[in-house]
Amino acid sequence: MERSSRHSDKLKNTTMRDSDLHPTDEEQEKFDEIERLLDATYGPRILRANGDPVSELVGTILSQNTSDVNTARTFASLREEFPSWEDVIEADTADVRDAIRMGGLSNIKAPRIQKVLKAILDECGALDISFLQSMEPAEAQAWLTNLDGIGPKTAACVLLFSLGMPVMPVDTHVGRVMTRLGVVPDRTSTLRKERIIESLIGDDAHRMYAVHVETITHGRQICRAQKPRCEICPLQSVCTYYQERIA
Ligand code: SF4
Repeated sequence: MERSSRHSDKLKNTTMRDSDLHPTDEEQEKFDEIERLLDATYGPRILRANGDPVSELVGTILSQNTSDVNTARTFASLREEFPSWEDVIEADTADVRDAIRMGGLSNIKAPRIQKVLKAILDECGALDISFLQSMEPAEAQAWLTNLDGIGPKTAACVLLFSLGMPVMPVDTHVGRVMTRLGVVPDRTSTLRKERIIESLIGDDAHRMYAVHVETITHGRQICRAQKPRCEICPLQSVCTYYQERIA
């Protein structure tokens, strides 16, 4: 059932405070409505954790600054050249660079991948980080971000997509859209934005995944960085940006 316009006015004027990770009833109500609208527009999106966190970690590094299609091709090329991750560690960096050249930034990504894999092997004695699943999500994320070159977003992708843990990766689309909607403040860290969204979703990886991918789709199609298409946006009724600049 549609909500009343007065109810919508209340929701779109609600912006969560930076200092508070315990949402008020109003903040929670607004977020629930955002989630409902995202799901109605772009859902359903089903999480199918792939159970291979090391491959997910390598894939996420490869995905930086390139498209999903190109990432898949580059990953396949790397696997074809080096059948095991141990092979990647032992290879000349120039050979790894050649195998992933098509994905761009290979000069940065090749040594980063080798360094991260070697650090895991040194730390764990095997290229296996599935033990992260038994940790608290924030603790597992901290473990991953202690690896050189791994930021909060990459760590969150690994935990959510491969291990099905309730962590929200905040990429450029999620950060921008959630800021415009008034869910997170503009001037705060990626990790803080992540924690705020997680506090609104709760301990549910399936909801976390759906909100993540649906928000990215919304950011690509409607709430673009330059010239957001507010006139056709299904989230107008709950959007702080829309209320303050357009309505
Ligand atoms: S109304 Fe505009 S700013 Fe708000 S979410 Fe939609 S496109 Fe983005």
